[in-house]
Amino acid sequence: MTRRPEASIRCGLLLAGAGHAHLAVLRSLAKRPLRGFRVVLVVPESRGLYSGMVPALLAGRASPATATIDVLPLARLAGIEVVLERVATLLPAERLARTESGIEIRWEACSLDLGAGVRRPDGIDGAHLVAVKPLDALVQRVSEFASLASRGRVEPTVAVVGAGAAGIEIAFALRERLRAVPGAGVLLLEEASTVLPGGSAEGRRVVARELARVGVEVLAGRGRIDLRGDAICAHGTELARPSLVILATGSTPPALLARSGLALDREGYLEVDRFLRSTSHPRVSGAGDCAVLAEGPRLPRAGVHAVRQGPVLAANLRAALHDEGGLREFRAREKALALLSTADGRAIALRGRWASCGRPWWWLKNRIDTAYVAGFRRLGTGDGTATV
Ligand SMILES: Cc1cc2nc3c(=O)[nH]c(=O)nc-3n(C[C@H](O)[C@H](O)[C@H](O)COP(=O)(O)OP(=O)(O)OC[C@H]3O[C@@H](n4cnc5c(N)ncnc54)[C@H](O)[C@@H]3O)c2cc1C
Repeated sequence: MTRRPEASIRCGLLLAGAGHAHLAVLRSLAKRPLRGFRVVLVVPESRGLYSGMVPALLAGRASPATATIDVLPLARLAGIEVVLERVATLLPAERLARTESGIEIRWEACSLDLGAGVRRPDGIDGAHLVAVKPLDALVQRVSEFASLASRGRVEPTVAVVGAGAAGIEIAFALRERLRAVPGAGVLLLEEASTVLPGGSAEGRRVVARELARVGVEVLAGRGRIDLRGDAICAHGTELARPSLVILATGSTPPALLARSGLALDREGYLEVDRFLRSTSHPRVSGAGDCAVLAEGPRLPRAGVHAVRQGPVLAANLRAALHDEGGLREFRAREKALALLSTADGRAIALRGRWASCGRPWWWLKNRIDTAYVAGFRRLGTGDGTATV
């Protein structure tokens, strides 16, 4: 149920953001509602694209309907009130949050799963630019571009800046999307000397080989990249003049954290303990890309970790509200399997130092992703069997 704007709200649990971990909390509460506590979810949009399926959307191999998760049916099932807004201010010492329109929300426990923004390096701006997030804006912009390019209305050239996992998948997806367009070119630019800078040597080798095989041009190690007008430059030298530039240059923490007084890491992300509670304000929990573990491995920002944190977060939020002990510990899995779609019916599998590319990996990725989205949809329509 969505709420009509109300000047002030008092609740047991405030959930800010509907990222992957909070979807698991919603699923848990849908199966076993929190009796006796009012739960409020604040999120700007009720429907969100599942990032794992965005490359397939960009490649034109999936429809937005199959990649969208709607939180409203889940919230209804869980007895959670939804406020379609952004949390603008969080004052943990006062157990207070304020939305952009000024609604004040007082809570007993609060959980943040706000994701992360896209880091915009100095010198990169312009009308040809779109960032990888918000995902719906990216998908919309690429569709418009692909449509114009296929009708010969714009030069069919695109550059992706940043060759981390997201940038690599987007480059593969665009190469596939523009396959039938004469003269189409996809350029992948990376400041570091190699694609997949955080990956293993074997992972980088397999990714570079597959990019070359499908015809994505890679320019790595040319130094800081600028966008001047519609020209992409490095050290004052023009590298390309693409019709569309996609920014995949890493993450930035949600702005509201900096003003919150919560303990943050050096980069400004919420610092949480192994029970996913803020290290400075234990009534605040956090998961997903907006949070980092104070102890333990530094996890890459990936949905897979947020998904794994979800059930732990759900159990610990219940315990916090009921003042119970027995908190569950989140055990980070450093060597999680990452699957990058090459958008041609194959995928690259990466785990630790090992890497492989082939059709079975695409089959596995597609199965995991479609099952994930379908599980929420089934639950929302009342015939689900998803487990928490
Ligand atoms: C193109 C692309 C492909 C990717 N593919 C994969 C993949 O295959 N596998 C993988 O593991 N990872 C993948 N990732 C990374 C993955 O998307 C993120 O790591 C993941 O989405 C993080 O999940 P999260 O739970 O932290 O938050 P998100 O999923 O980012 O959700 C954040 C939520 O918070 C809401 N929000 C934000 N600010 C506010 C606010 N102020 N108030 C209230 N609500 C707010 C947002 O609307 C959203 O609901 C991909 C990323 C991209 C860009």
